Amino acid sequence: MSTRKKVHAFVRVRPTDDFAHEVIRYGDDNKSIDIHLKKDTRRGVVNNQQTDWSFKLDGVLHDASQDLVYETVAKDVISQALDGYNGTIMCYGQTGAGKTYTMTGATENYKHRGILPRALQQVFRMIEERPTHAITVRVSYLEIYNESLFDLLSTLPYVGPSVTPMTIVENPQGVFIKGLSVHLTSQEEDAFSLLFEGETNRIIASHTMNKNSSRSHCIFTIYVESEGRVLKEATYINKSLSFLEQAIIALGDQKRDHIPFRQCKLTHALKDSLGGNCNMVLVTNIYGDAAQLEETLSSLRFASRMKLVTTEPAINEKYDAERMVKNLEKELVLLKQELAIHDSLANRSLVNYDPMDEIQIAEINSQVRRYLEGTLDEIDIINLRQIQEVFNQFRVVLSQQEQEVECALRRKYTFIDKNDFAAISAVQKAGLMDVDGHLVGEPDGQGFGLGVAPFSAKPGKKAKSKKTFKDQLSSSARKEGASSPVGGKDLDVSISKTQLTPSSKDGDVKDMLLRDRETSNIEPPSSDSPKEELRPPRPSTPPSKPVAFEDFKNERGSEINRIFKENKSILNERRKRASETTQRINAIKREIDMTKEALNFQKSLREKQGEYENQGLMIIDEEEFLLILKLKDLKKQYRTEYQDLRDLRAEIQYCQHLVDQCRHRLLTEFDIWYNESFFIPEDMQVALKPGSSIRPGMIPVSRIMSLGEDDQDKFSQLQQTMLPEGPDSISFYNAKVKTEQKHKYLKTMMGLQQTQRK
Ligand code: ADP
Ligand code: MG
Repeated sequence: MSTRKKVHAFVRVRPTDDFAHEVIRYGDDNKSIDIHLKKDTRRGVVNNQQTDWSFKLDGVLHDASQDLVYETVAKDVISQALDGYNGTIMCYGQTGAGKTYTMTGATENYKHRGILPRALQQVFRMIEERPTHAITVRVSYLEIYNESLFDLLSTLPYVGPSVTPMTIVENPQGVFIKGLSVHLTSQEEDAFSLLFEGETNRIIASHTMNKNSSRSHCIFTIYVESEGRVLKEATYINKSLSFLEQAIIALGDQKRDHIPFRQCKLTHALKDSLGGNCNMVLVTNIYGDAAQLEETLSSLRFASRMKLVTTEPAINEKYDAERMVKNLEKELVLLKQELAIHDSLANRSLVNYDPMDEIQIAEINSQVRRYLEGTLDEIDIINLRQIQEVFNQFRVVLSQQEQEVECALRRKYTFIDKNDFAAISAVQKAGLMDVDGHLVGEPDGQGFGLGVAPFSAKPGKKAKSKKTFKDQLSSSARKEGASSPVGGKDLDVSISKTQLTPSSKDGDVKDMLLRDRETSNIEPPSSDSPKEELRPPRPSTPPSKPVAFEDFKNERGSEINRIFKENKSILNERRKRASETTQRINAIKREIDMTKEALNFQKSLREKQGEYENQGLMIIDEEEFLLILKLKDLKKQYRTEYQDLRDLRAEIQYCQHLVDQCRHRLLTEFDIWYNESFFIPEDMQVALKPGSSIRPGMIPVSRIMSLGEDDQDKFSQLQQTMLPEGPDSISFYNAKVKTEQKHKYLKTMMGLQQTQRK
């Protein structure tokens, strides 16, 4: 069901201060250009020279903004491309008339961006609007110069130089360029980067190879693929070849059966895009100056010839669409009949299975809303289509409500990214937020408390952090207990002293300090309410670490210190018991040895005296019998004590682990506290508060001290969101900056290599 369409031809006039009003006139409807030449008086009265031409077009773009040009020329082609129609946008004209400006635009300025970046934006925006469609976007950028093909994106690191030259290949699906790199892009910024990369390469090549730009023709192609269907949106730029004209004239001539596409690479590559199934737009770029009139005339002639070409936009599909549609239509009719039979058998009044119209969808939307409000008890099920629409509308309503809630919140409050400490500190400076990251309430007092609450007034928070730490300990205790191996096979009956010494890897002053404290009996008074936050003003010179450590244990470290000491005393108690048990075991062992000796003596005595036997049973005297009983009892005691010791050793091992953990925690927290109290500037401590991206104690102080630079970064990022063109332009500028940085870097490296070679 394709409709034959004429090529849409527009003329864009390059702005000039010297517009030839006398010569160039536009029609009232802005759809024609008349050229009027004054008679060349030098040739005298007899003069056959033609002096008037009139060109019919689809529109004249005079003093038109890039915005307007896009709206007029490209917008529809792109939206149809997402429905599966090939599209081609071409700029044609004299060098310097504005083809590149129209197609690519000024890459320095978002506002002056051309058709290509706008097309990419539209494609991604439309994809966003069709979240269920699984659409992929790829791009390629080809240059044809003097009948040679160049891949303008081959400089990308993952492409690499191609081994074989590119060739134009024709297959039943159409024409494609073998060897041309095609790049998957999942977002606007990536696509911009590719465009800028190609643009930069084109400029570099034109300088280094001294290319004459009138012989350079570029084809930027956007391939849109939806669920296996290839929707190709091709955008072509810079055409001026006579071969192209020939091909186009042939296309315009309905009687011609041979179109000389193959005559040159450009027309060959464009074969699919010039004829048949393609939406096609031509922009003819002309000068408005009288001096360029000759070229202008020739360009306008080309444009009017192009209007003769009729194209047939057809949906571009990989399979034989026509046959498939016919089959499906047949099947549809059958199924509908089948359904009608079922409905009448089930005594159901006629159910409609056609797609829903807007009114029906609106009705479902209203049902869903009433259902959510509770005014409708249930939604009657009619058919599958209706069920799907109900789900659809659920999503619609949900997302609307989310937006409403967010809007309401935004109207009332300002949102700040928790991790954006630059913004947070700015807000804090302005007095809108307290140091803990809580927003200070509005003057009317709605919702929030007023002013900055003193830390002492937050008992809940303190209690919670205590609990968390205990929880941590007890949960790790449970884990440890469960997995702690109690293997006692080769158990030594004495506990080595070294094992009980707190582990220390280096001679760190704190470690030494800590060990001193452990062995000392004088414990600092433990305090139940830490006073860390009521710290006195910072001294100009920090105290020595040993002194500071004592303070810390009374202040912020008091709770950890208390737990540490508790575990330590449990450990000591277990060690004492283990040592007592060991002593007992040693004593039992000695007694066992003695008893064995005594028994051996009795046995040898008996053997010397001669043995008595009664009915095959050995007769022993009472002394020997008692010794045997004693030995049996001792062995039993030994086993029991041995088992106790094994258990105790496992317990000691576990307690030791806990004590080590507490010690480590105590020292880490001390480090943080010491740095915070005496070194890190207070305004930077914001970044160290819970919820910020930086975890206290995880980075060395030197890193924290250099945070100022990161702040700068954050600031420039903030500035970006305030770009004159709004947030839409961010990806454009990002891609631009990145491409420039990359090329600057490459240039510098190449320069370096060259100087090195010299
Ligand atoms: P072409 O690609 O056709 O050779 P360009 O697009 O490079 O020509 O245009 C030549 C110069 O004229 C460029 O500096 C460009 O910025 C400028 N120019 C062309 N058209 C316009 C326009 N419509 N508005 C402003 N500047 C333009
Ligand atoms: Mg150009």
